[in-house]
Amino acid sequence: MRIAEIFHSIQGEGSLVGVPSVFVRTSGCNLRCAWCDTPYTSWHPEGDDWPLERIYAAVEAYPARHVVVTGGEPMIAREIVKFTLGLRARDLHITIETAGTVFAPVACDLMSISPKLANSTPEGDWRDGHERLRVQPDVIQRLTADYPYQLKFVISRPEDLAEVHALIRTLRADTGHVILMPEGIEAGVLRERGVWLAEICKREGFRFSPRLHVELWGNRRGT
Ligand code: SF4
Repeated sequence: MRIAEIFHSIQGEGSLVGVPSVFVRTSGCNLRCAWCDTPYTSWHPEGDDWPLERIYAAVEAYPARHVVVTGGEPMIAREIVKFTLGLRARDLHITIETAGTVFAPVACDLMSISPKLANSTPEGDWRDGHERLRVQPDVIQRLTADYPYQLKFVISRPEDLAEVHALIRTLRADTGHVILMPEGIEAGVLRERGVWLAEICKREGFRFSPRLHVELWGNRRGT
């Protein structure tokens, strides 16, 4: 699998926020979000092909029992199914962070699905391809049927909520699984957006997620 980085940190987002975890970040993505915070896995993918045994050894070098497989888009990584089965065999808790555009029969304990809203669509050559692909309701429904899941939305502006509601209706998703997170890669921006987003969460009953790793360390690789 093409690997951008493997590191030990705490989960900064979603329902497992704060849990010490090893992050396996695959390189390569089928989307091109305008605000992508890991452009070295999408717009300008970096990294080498690692044999699975080397990845397992890197994961097991840390004491964490939780592994977060992220990207890029890990569901398009070659050998992703075999890789996750190997993690399962090692008795590790597996979270997969995906945009939910591709299905693969992976082993997974928490499918963390982050469908990309219209605020993600870039200008330029990638606009039409990104817009066509960014929401795949059939894929999301299969993922939510087959795995424990969370639906995590990145919110840039209050108007994004209309799209969240429409998608939840289409998916017939349980709102108890919905998590809203402010978009931003600077602590000040996250705080400013977090204030109004928290009010929306209070009003609508959605769960709020911080981006704790950005608040603690800034938008740095390896965190
Ligand atoms: S899906 Fe994730 S990795 Fe891919 S472009 Fe969007 S934010 Fe970046």
